[in-house]
Amino acid sequence: MGIPLRQSMKIGMYIAGQKIRRREKFPLIVELEPLFACNLKCAGCGKIQHPANILKQRMPVEQAIGAIEESGAPMVSIAGGEPLMHPQIDEIVRQLIKRKKFVYLCTNALLMPKHIEKFRPSPYFSWVVHIDGLRERHDASVSKDGVFDQAVEAIREAKQRGFTVATNTTFFNTDTPQTVIDVLDYLNDELGVHHMMISPGYAYEKAPDQEHFLGVQETRELFAKAFANGRRRRWRLNHSPLFLDFLEGKVDFSCTAWGIPSYSLFGWQKPCYLMSDGYVSTYKELVETTEWEKYGRGRDPRCANCMAHCGYEPSAVLATMGSLRESIRAMRDV
Ligand code: SF4
Ligand code: SF4
Repeated sequence: MGIPLRQSMKIGMYIAGQKIRRREKFPLIVELEPLFACNLKCAGCGKIQHPANILKQRMPVEQAIGAIEESGAPMVSIAGGEPLMHPQIDEIVRQLIKRKKFVYLCTNALLMPKHIEKFRPSPYFSWVVHIDGLRERHDASVSKDGVFDQAVEAIREAKQRGFTVATNTTFFNTDTPQTVIDVLDYLNDELGVHHMMISPGYAYEKAPDQEHFLGVQETRELFAKAFANGRRRRWRLNHSPLFLDFLEGKVDFSCTAWGIPSYSLFGWQKPCYLMSDGYVSTYKELVETTEWEKYGRGRDPRCANCMAHCGYEPSAVLATMGSLRESIRAMRDV
């Protein structure tokens, strides 16, 4: 079981509160992108393709905090771009923790040695380091040699300083069940990170490499084989059991992208982090003006291969909360 008890309880109470208020659509976690610039050029990345004048921009602290407060989300995942290139990223994190938001700071780890002093361990704070595979595979994925070793070193240092450290791994059709097993075994057993997140790569329109994204059937086969023989229970995966069931094809859900919305320099992105059909300035407007029924697999061709957590983890969490049996399972084990 990957999700800390304190966090599970708080999120459970938050969802129950939304239900009591009869709020049908609400955010669980906001993907906050306070900049698009990055110090790497990964082949699968759709963010660094923006023009230079956009890549230069940094979101003011007040704007970032105001957006999260307006949405009411209990968790924030700060990504980008590379968030550690934002000169006030530590202040954004501090302000969010002060408001008792659970903060995940997603990074490629290259700037962690330079900036780690600006952060303090907290039950509300977790580093999330991008690791796409073992050394050769990861360095190929980020198109630069030596990045894997630097990320591993930064993870060890952060753990030693008492931080919670998670990893985020994206899988493509160049992966096999064995490459999934190898990297998760390494992160779980050898490096000993606190939690691991996994995701099938989504084919961003802007990503230069369009060939290596997984289809739905390929995703299900990949994870079903990788999770077999009790491995899934052994790994500290930071996902609900039902989302993992979904990845390996045991259940299916509709997309509920309003549960993990994205707020960036452009505003709230319609309908989700992965696709942009326009932007609005508040979460309320996002919920009220997006035609949600038009999106999801079988409805929009751009969604055909999507099994990403921003669309389906909220569906899994809500299904968990709606079932006593699943709630007990989520508290007990994956
Ligand atoms: S580290 Fe992340 S933001 Fe930077 S290029 Fe790679 S995928 Fe894009
Ligand atoms: S299925 Fe949902 S999360 Fe995936 S691309 Fe479509 S709208 Fe976005």
